[in-house]
Amino acid sequence: MDYGEIQSINLARLLREGGTAEAKGEISGQIELGNDTIPLQDKALWRVSVTSVGDDELWLSGEIAGNAVMECRRCLDPTPTPVRAHFQHMLRYQPGLERLEAVEEDEEEVFLFGKPDLELAPFLSEAFALELPYTTLCREDCPGLCEFCGANLKRAPQDCCPQRSRQGKESKLAEQLKKLDLEGIE
Ligand SMILES: [Zn+2]
Ligand SMILES: [Zn+2]
Repeated sequence: MDYGEIQSINLARLLREGGTAEAKGEISGQIELGNDTIPLQDKALWRVSVTSVGDDELWLSGEIAGNAVMECRRCLDPTPTPVRAHFQHMLRYQPGLERLEAVEEDEEEVFLFGKPDLELAPFLSEAFALELPYTTLCREDCPGLCEFCGANLKRAPQDCCPQRSRQGKESKLAEQLKKLDLEGIE
């Protein structure tokens, strides 16, 4: 396993002695969330800190930042979209517990974990996914796709298909007529 790609923090010392533990790392390629994956451009970087707040309770706070690759909502081109997410959670160590478990206590969510080596991927993925925008644009003035032939108008020549070049001429004509009209009124 690539050591740069471990998404966990060892809390053994923190659980014994109290204090704060910190870790940072990176995720390359994609972020996995259940059955979904969010493709990344380059790497997402993360850092977390965990502070003991007594009685096996810990306060986790962290951030993750990277570029998610999303489809432009007009032309569907893959578009790197910056995402930066912060997260904070209350944790409690419960030795022996097999996997991370979320419980509700006094209207607060507490995450129970059973191994001193705390797996961070679920926290990182969730925070990142929550900050994803619904849609993105490859650029503010993306012209989108040709409504007739589907060509990407960013790359397609003016006349990607006969329908479009005809429409272009017609709208030019309409513009000229409008001008004439206005001039006539004045
Ligand atoms: Zn676009
Ligand atoms: Zn076309």
